[in-house]
Amino acid sequence: MSVVSLPEVLGPAFEQRYGVAAFNAVDDITMDGLIRAAEESRSPLIIQISVKTVQFWGADVVKDMFTNMARRVAAPVTLHLDHCPDTAVAQTCLEVGWNSVLFDGSGLSYEENFRKTAEIVKLANQTGASVEGELVTVGGVEDGIGSDEEGALLPIEKEIEFMRETGIYCYAPPIGTAHGFYRTEPIIRFDRMQRLVEATHMPMVLHGGSGLTNDVFKRLIALGAAKVNISTDLKKTYADGFRTYLEAKPTEYNPMKLIGAVRGDVTKMAQAYFKIFGSEGKA
Ligand SMILES: [Zn+2]
Repeated sequence: MSVVSLPEVLGPAFEQRYGVAAFNAVDDITMDGLIRAAEESRSPLIIQISVKTVQFWGADVVKDMFTNMARRVAAPVTLHLDHCPDTAVAQTCLEVGWNSVLFDGSGLSYEENFRKTAEIVKLANQTGASVEGELVTVGGVEDGIGSDEEGALLPIEKEIEFMRETGIYCYAPPIGTAHGFYRTEPIIRFDRMQRLVEATHMPMVLHGGSGLTNDVFKRLIALGAAKVNISTDLKKTYADGFRTYLEAKPTEYNPMKLIGAVRGDVTKMAQAYFKIFGSEGKA
């Protein structure tokens, strides 16, 4: 049984400065492909789920599927709810035993976000779960949540106050990364992440990971990005996997061969990230 809490995977990663990949699984094929990758590479792993995916399957179905797949492996894996602006959805996931949630109050005023985030932290404490916090909108829309524009930066003192006083475990800082495919090279605020880590010693979460260069990943992980989110690349691998297989074998009607091929593609993609992030062999 290797379902663990978020601090159990992020604590050692933050201390030793490697990154734990958090992939947005969408179904059983992707979830199983990712968990197999973690087991084969002996890497810790975060399975994260978007609100739309939760609404598609149901929080309890996702949780049960995750638990049953994770208990077959020795690698430590944890289940996280990605960008959730809705307190009720976060509460449902916590109640059925998810390990952590990102309460995304970046669309709210500072005060409202602070209040609601602290409220979710209270709920999470009751179920032994953890909370990721976000204060300024990370640019780019992900599964219908977010904005094309990155939110305006707040004074860094406000961010530090939010990080220290809401009770969150980790924080998604606004450092110039964006969700989706990058159209131009992003300008990354390495210095901002460095200052936040120095002030709080809190694990940072890197959003908009798909499409960053290995050098950018390595620099940010060295500064304290312990959780690295990969969503767009997984979606691409998944869709391309089906397309490639069906185009190559238009008369193949064995579903197990088809989904087996896609699952294998997901596993390979994940393993490549474990290598880049330095988490391979850490479990
Ligand atoms: Zn994100």
